[in-house]
Amino acid sequence: MTTTDTHCPYCSLQCGMRLNETERGVVEVVERPAFPVNRGALCGKGQTAAALLGPAHRLTTPLMRERRADGGRGPLRAASWTEALDRAAEGFAALQAEHGRDAVGVFGGGGLTNEKAYLLGKFARVALGTRNIDYNGRFCMSSAAAANRLAFGLDRGLPFPLEDIERTRCLILVGANPAETMPPAVRHLRRLRDNGGTLIVVDPRRTRTAELADVHLRTAPGSDLALALGLLHLLIADDLVDDAFVTARTTGYDRVHAAAMAHWPERVERLTGIPVSRLRTVARMFGKAATGMVLTARGSEQHSKGTDTVGAWINLCLAAGKAGRLHSGYGCLTGQGNGQGGREHGQKADQLPGYRSIEDPRARAHVAQVWGVDPRTLPHAGRSAYELLDTLGQPAAGTRPAGLRGLLLMGSNPVVSAPRAAHVTDRIRALDLLVVGDLVLSETAQLADVVLPGTQWAEETGTMTNLEGRVVLRRGAVPPPEGVRSDLRILRDLAERLGAAHGFDDDPRTVFEELRRASAGGPADYAGITYERIQAEDGVFWPCPDESHPGTPRLFLDAFATPDGRARFLPVTHRPPAEEPDARYPVHLTTGRVLAQYQSGAQTRRVPALDSAAPGPFVELHPVLAHSLGLREGDPVQVTSRRGRAVAPARITDTIRPDTVFMPFHWPGAGRANTLTNPALDPVSKMPEFKVCAVRVEPARER
Ligand code: SF4
Repeated sequence: MTTTDTHCPYCSLQCGMRLNETERGVVEVVERPAFPVNRGALCGKGQTAAALLGPAHRLTTPLMRERRADGGRGPLRAASWTEALDRAAEGFAALQAEHGRDAVGVFGGGGLTNEKAYLLGKFARVALGTRNIDYNGRFCMSSAAAANRLAFGLDRGLPFPLEDIERTRCLILVGANPAETMPPAVRHLRRLRDNGGTLIVVDPRRTRTAELADVHLRTAPGSDLALALGLLHLLIADDLVDDAFVTARTTGYDRVHAAAMAHWPERVERLTGIPVSRLRTVARMFGKAATGMVLTARGSEQHSKGTDTVGAWINLCLAAGKAGRLHSGYGCLTGQGNGQGGREHGQKADQLPGYRSIEDPRARAHVAQVWGVDPRTLPHAGRSAYELLDTLGQPAAGTRPAGLRGLLLMGSNPVVSAPRAAHVTDRIRALDLLVVGDLVLSETAQLADVVLPGTQWAEETGTMTNLEGRVVLRRGAVPPPEGVRSDLRILRDLAERLGAAHGFDDDPRTVFEELRRASAGGPADYAGITYERIQAEDGVFWPCPDESHPGTPRLFLDAFATPDGRARFLPVTHRPPAEEPDARYPVHLTTGRVLAQYQSGAQTRRVPALDSAAPGPFVELHPVLAHSLGLREGDPVQVTSRRGRAVAPARITDTIRPDTVFMPFHWPGAGRANTLTNPALDPVSKMPEFKVCAVRVEPARER
């Protein structure tokens, strides 16, 4: 039997696990108690991860389809690697020759290893020479990332190790449900309470996490910004602002003070649905605690005012003196497996490796030198994820520039996961050439002209950066199925055909060594991190500028990463969601995840144990709403928004507000939640408003 220590293929916790492979090739997942993040604990997804390695659902040969003379599409058929790669590269080159370099784009994913994310960014800027690259992490935590950079000068999801949660005295968890999304993290919440700390959960639903809390604020969807402003108002009114901290370590308080004072508690009660007395209790709990943290996740971030909402929570932390101190601070619970590293190494439209701005001349010169190209040839920032998808295949019209004609997509399934998904699906169909690299024939791959089967998780080695900024090594444990190639190899093969072979290596260690050089001196500095150190130290925290540096588990204890070392209060004020309930669409819709599924479900829906635990979508609604509509448990419910309709069985529960319905977003087809969601964008981060829109709910006509 061979044994390999590695990490889970799914979420941002990147739990440590051990893979045992018997002589007969059977792979089993076992605990790895030594890894400090999860101490051996795994959720059901991690426990069943070996099922992903089964060949039944794997793509093992490239696929291609022909375009007919009338523009129609033939069926996907098996193809050789040479045929498929030639078709992809020649197609991209032809489209760029006819429509310009920016007519071909790249769409990546937050689950790709650091090496893949890095090489994908380089492929876009060097091999294709396009400015249009972005990734699905834009849909994940980009608003928190933007607020972090604005306030602290640096974005790392958690500026402290996860276990610090246990030592804080008061934790406010906003729009986060780790009991379902990352269950091994819940032990930190339990220990926080065992240690006498207070847990406050803000969520429109009484989730499994909310049931652990001392206080649950069941807010109206889309009202977190008002809530944070109201709490700051009450903190000021109760004289609980830490004036010494504000004076010594922050700037910009005066403007924020004025905005908070305009948010009277009675107004905040009206906006959030939380009584003033309860608001006051929470403000005092947080303000009087010796240490405190606020952690947000998608529930608070996926809004058209996501950056301002996170900014308001950061303001609360700063005013209370609860940032840049041990066991205090603001953090974001990143969702995807490499949501953190995926945004640091260049697959984001506006960034270069090392979390550098693509518009910074010094950053351009540094990265161009590592890549061996003239910095003047590096493209500038392109379109954000939804802006890119929204216009695929469209000709220019008025002030709107032409959309992309060709797209290379890796590690993402926007047909299920993008907002306004039916429209996005139509736009994808309008492309002249869609090339998808994937493990399985996802819903998006089914629309491709060329599908390139890639290796996955335990079949390859690469680094991931978890939600703490801890860089870990996912080691390959088993050989890939015959016929597949690694994504690094696919990028190398395509780059070669596009005339840019130099600098596109398919060895992960070689790519990581180049990534270290490219990130050196940047905000996310990996220069001192090596594969050997990661293995010896169970992960290394960035920034780590040289090999003698210990890494940085805790940020900001001495100074923030701004030019003057002070954190910046962010001037924010309440504004409503882009869409509020009205006579036609009288109910809020919010969306989220369930324990047994992950993201678009492309992997987890193919694992039998997970599929039977969570076989399909549902509409969660309150008994009062259900009764008013004549709906009983299991009845098919039609949910209609301005963008389309979805149908799924009713799940009736009093854990949700009567004015709100909830749908999980893991499934395609009639119950696809993202058919309904609103692509209204946050002006700063370009985060779509996944978490709230207005809908009509009624018994399904097919009943
Ligand atoms: Fe995997 Fe996340 Fe579950 Fe840990 S919590 S086992 S990383 S899915």
